[in-house]
Amino acid sequence: MQVNIPLKKVVDNSYDISIDTLKKIHFDTKVAIITNPKVAGLHLSYLLSFISAKELYIITLSDGEEYKNQESIDTILESLFNHRFNRKSMLIAFGGGVIGDMTGYAASIYQRGIDFIQIPTTLLSQVDASVGGKTGMNNAYGKNLIGAFHQPKAVFIDPYFLNTLAPREFGAGVAEMLKMAITFDKDFFEFLEDADLNDKELLAQAIKKAVETKASVVVKDEKEHGLRAALNYGHTFAHVIENETNYKEFLHGEAVAIGMIMANEVSLSLGLMSRDEILRVKNILQKYNLPTSYKIKNSNSFYDAFFLDKKSSDESVTFILAKAIGEVEIINNVEPSVIMSVLDKFGD
Ligand code: NAD
Ligand code: MG
Repeated sequence: MQVNIPLKKVVDNSYDISIDTLKKIHFDTKVAIITNPKVAGLHLSYLLSFISAKELYIITLSDGEEYKNQESIDTILESLFNHRFNRKSMLIAFGGGVIGDMTGYAASIYQRGIDFIQIPTTLLSQVDASVGGKTGMNNAYGKNLIGAFHQPKAVFIDPYFLNTLAPREFGAGVAEMLKMAITFDKDFFEFLEDADLNDKELLAQAIKKAVETKASVVVKDEKEHGLRAALNYGHTFAHVIENETNYKEFLHGEAVAIGMIMANEVSLSLGLMSRDEILRVKNILQKYNLPTSYKIKNSNSFYDAFFLDKKSSDESVTFILAKAIGEVEIINNVEPSVIMSVLDKFGD
């Protein structure tokens, strides 16, 4: 399936996102492919059958969220300096969202910014992380606290890579697709209710729909002054869950699944969503083997943790709530008592 989605003029920059088998491409510049041992072991030779360059280097970083840090960025930058990369050189992110975020960030700061291309290899990075130009890394203070908006020159999404993805990682990507469907597109939600994503054609269609949704939001609000925050649906709760479980029990997308369930309970309390609708969301999460329950041990400390989130201001927590399936609202003034009674429902 050949799909090209032009992400129309995002600030000074527009680029194509293709969802297709990779095509041969030659770069008349220095190119560094940034990847990790797992992705390289599985897929680097496949990638190299498509990519050639004047000079081609491979930079391999350790695999894992815990390596999305300054040390890995330094590894990239040192290699670029050693090989005398210049303003015309190109970086290629080859891996999941961790590699994509770090490659993009390194590209944004090397000599004040060079080009990069995303070749995402997880479902989550194909439908979410590779699109939209957020790049960054973690530090001791938290996740994604350092970074830059730096749009890629192109995004090449080849669903072939997903054949080797662990089922839980696949599910985590589906959770982010569901997030986009529930907030912006009821037809997409119904498609995902019916579809068997083991069917390659349907999977490609789902990826396309998710990417279109994300791109359309990013075009309207690149730097998250408003609408783009809607893509954090489920995330306010998810971040607390991830923190409480030390990032060990749930993948991010799994925590988002539970977070969407919690956000929907708030919607129900405020009369924004019906019981039937929140049941439909629960059912679809279960269809994709995503978790839908979590035991909150202490509602007060769970609530307090919302204020650690970088999206919250000092006084109020911003809640992204579905108004219905396919409609979203960003609300700053939900009464704490409403939230507390929802959190209590998830307690003992
Ligand atoms: P990840 O990059 O850690 O990949 C998950 C695991 O899958 C890793 O072990 C990876 O090596 C492995 N893997 C990658 N491709 C594979 C393949 N084809 N087959 C088998 N294994 C493969 O995690 P992720 O879920 O892709 O991305 C999560 C990261 O993305 C987080 O750091 C998050 O902050 C970031 N993110 C960024 C944005 C953004 O807008 N920039 C959006 C969402 C998430
Ligand atoms: Mg997310």
